[in-house]
Amino acid sequence: MRYISTRGKADPKAFKDILLEGLASDGGLYMPETYPQMDLNSLKGASYTDVALSVLAPFADDVPFWVLRNIVTETYTADNFCSRDIAPLKWLEPGLALLQLANGPTLAFKDLALQPLAALMEYALEEKSENLNILGATSGDTGSAAAYAVRGKECLRLFMLSPYGRMSRFQQMQMYTLNEPNIHNLVVNGTFDDCQAVVKEVNADADFKKQYKLGAVNSINWARIAAQVVYYVYAYLKAAKRVGDKVVFAVPSGNFGNALSAYIAKRMGLPIAIVVCTNENDVLDEFFRTGIYRVRKGVEVKVTSSPSMDIAAASNFERLIFDLVERDPRVVIAAWEELSKNGEFDFGQLDAGAPYDITSSSTTEEEVLDTIRKVHDKYKIIIDPHTAVAMKIGEDYRQFGYPVVVAETAQPAKFADTIREALGFEAPVPAGYEGLADLPEHTTRIDPDAAAVKEFIAAHVN
Ligand SMILES: *Cc1c(COP(=O)(O)O)cnc(C)c1O
Repeated sequence: MRYISTRGKADPKAFKDILLEGLASDGGLYMPETYPQMDLNSLKGASYTDVALSVLAPFADDVPFWVLRNIVTETYTADNFCSRDIAPLKWLEPGLALLQLANGPTLAFKDLALQPLAALMEYALEEKSENLNILGATSGDTGSAAAYAVRGKECLRLFMLSPYGRMSRFQQMQMYTLNEPNIHNLVVNGTFDDCQAVVKEVNADADFKKQYKLGAVNSINWARIAAQVVYYVYAYLKAAKRVGDKVVFAVPSGNFGNALSAYIAKRMGLPIAIVVCTNENDVLDEFFRTGIYRVRKGVEVKVTSSPSMDIAAASNFERLIFDLVERDPRVVIAAWEELSKNGEFDFGQLDAGAPYDITSSSTTEEEVLDTIRKVHDKYKIIIDPHTAVAMKIGEDYRQFGYPVVVAETAQPAKFADTIREALGFEAPVPAGYEGLADLPEHTTRIDPDAAAVKEFIAAHVN
């Protein structure tokens, strides 16, 4: 499999090469040249690891099959993900299910992709006798998921920027209490978008990037997108009565990594409809309804109860546009030039997602709280505010008669304040996480300044 850039000016690369890179050298994102087609009938009843192997093998065709098999079986264990099912599908009532993706070590769906990603990276680096310095930004869940994935990996070092005081208490504790020689928590005086901007700027310095061997684990990393395809296939096979029947997936969306994976699954032959679910930061919803993609200014980004979806721009969105314009990089370049000039581009088409059965909707903060309450009353379970966004919207799609599967992206214990506001009490802290509050934190405060971050990296790389 070769990977090509959405901007068309970088050389095509193999999986192992793009595994260790962030953006392509032309500023674009890597996409597979073709979409491998799945034989769904042969996967019916398969285990999570078997589905993972069959989804990932064609993408990672320069990784020996036995290596991939080892990585997948050592990553997706009952120990690591709380059950042999890895991503259980829980029916709440006929026609409505919760796809439980948040049972990994950091209680967010990001573990499902970051755990194998770090193992794959380590394999590729060991082979070359190289190290990689991962630079990333987090609004909460990516940071801890990346840290727990990188922990103990000798070839990987992590520099993770997080916005000071803007993550939940649980998220902060989870990340900041890790005390590992290869993990650096850089706490930024600014917002998540400031963090992301700094990461972008540091990466734009090609010399620095090369000298300090910078890599990325944010959702623009293709291996992450590919790993997330797995649970859509796995869940579909359980949710569909017959292979070929349509199933609707409602996906809480921020940077458009998770929903993009659903789209890739669809292109690989999964008969699904995708509902992109946003909170009040509805950049994506606006696009799918109107065809206008308008990046928000920092001050326009609302602080909501689902912070992982409080985004100004969706970093993976360019990948979908690439396909929507029939993979013509000139059109992509023109659109992003327009975007940097005017802050928006007009795709010139309503229902832009229609060819691929992608629709969208957004929710208000009040609806999120209300949904957490209703779900608790009706089904006796507590869902987190991100999941609640998709639950509210998913409910509306039941009228079409297809099974609706809502992706659960985090455990409610990560968002204690919101759960207390909705229910009057907090979600129980899962076993094994009670002691976090007593551990000391390990962080470095830093300004949202690329030069300062470069200096820190230079001083902590040996
Ligand atoms: C990261 C995250 C999201 C958003 O996922 P994207 O892939 O960025 O669209 C939603 N919910 C939770 C809990 C997350 O951690």
